[in-house]
Amino acid sequence: MFKTRFTETFGVQHPIVQGGMQWVGRAELVAAVANAGALGFITALTQPTPDDLRREIARCREMTDKPFGVNLTLLPALKAIPYAEYRQAIIESGVKIVETAGNNPQEHIDDFKAHGIKIIHKCVAVRHALKAEKLGVDAVSIDGFECAGHPGEDDVPGLILIPAAADKLNIPMIASGGIGDARGMVAALALGADGVNMGTRFMCTKESPIHQNIKEQIVANTERDTDLIFRTLRNTSRVARNAVSQEVVSIEQRGNATIEDLAPLVSGQRGKVVYEKGDSDYGVWSAGQVQGLINDIPSVRELVDRMVTEAESIIRKRLNGMLD
Ligand code: NAD
Repeated sequence: MFKTRFTETFGVQHPIVQGGMQWVGRAELVAAVANAGALGFITALTQPTPDDLRREIARCREMTDKPFGVNLTLLPALKAIPYAEYRQAIIESGVKIVETAGNNPQEHIDDFKAHGIKIIHKCVAVRHALKAEKLGVDAVSIDGFECAGHPGEDDVPGLILIPAAADKLNIPMIASGGIGDARGMVAALALGADGVNMGTRFMCTKESPIHQNIKEQIVANTERDTDLIFRTLRNTSRVARNAVSQEVVSIEQRGNATIEDLAPLVSGQRGKVVYEKGDSDYGVWSAGQVQGLINDIPSVRELVDRMVTEAESIIRKRLNGMLD
């Protein structure tokens, strides 16, 4: 068993987080993560309306009595998002932990704090982590360049970003990006993290509410099977390499691409169909370089138990055995 500032602050058994994933962070997965003793997040914007989010939170409560949270992502989107209404739905649902991610979180942080909600802010740079700490969040989740989704524009991998952030922060820190097994978890703890976040690894579990074909594609993919799209728009996103991501990259390479040029290819609505129908070439879908370390589709409980057991073994046997 691991006891860290993260497990203590959030009342969670294991220092493991399933962070927000668009179209994936639904009640089935989040409840399974909670029941396995880790911390899962329902992704607010996966729900078409704030009322749907209320119902999703209620559905998750029917499946677990353990703590879970809601992710609110604040990044550029094709349609206007009624953030204040989603925030209100989260507050009124009585959820006690929120993961914010992206830009300008201040008004959300202020409101959540005023309602006694604990906040983990996910960010991709030490300067953003320090800003979030100043704004009063309870923890930060720092996302290295390896990660799925939006790694920012600084391209600093976890091996540097995690200790650089640990040197400056006073609040608990979760390491995110590139973690898929116990080795990554022990490494992140050694680098100064208090817990680890995994996205792609949790996508590829039995309870993850995406099509089996996509889980099998993640298992088949290697660490080289991602593309960085939206580099030219300064909204970089790491996605699984496929026909659509390659087309986006080639349009961007030609120069002067606008979001309007790319929107028909990259829309989240197409990504949603990928997960529903299992056609991995239908749209872009987020996945990290950690695909290269994912070789099976375990249950969430098997995954969490295995990580904790193997992490203990790495520390007690392998690392301890290296000491004279
Ligand atoms: P969407 O359909 O609104 O947009 C599709 C993609 O285009 C997203 O990556 C979005 O960031 C990007 N985009 C939209 N408008 C843009 C603009 N003006 N300039 C540059 N890029 C732009 O998004 P969705 O798939 O329905 O997702 C909803 C929200 O969740 C978005 O904010 C998206 O960024 C976010 N998301 C986050 C992750 C992550 O890794 N954290 C993964 C998937 C989606």
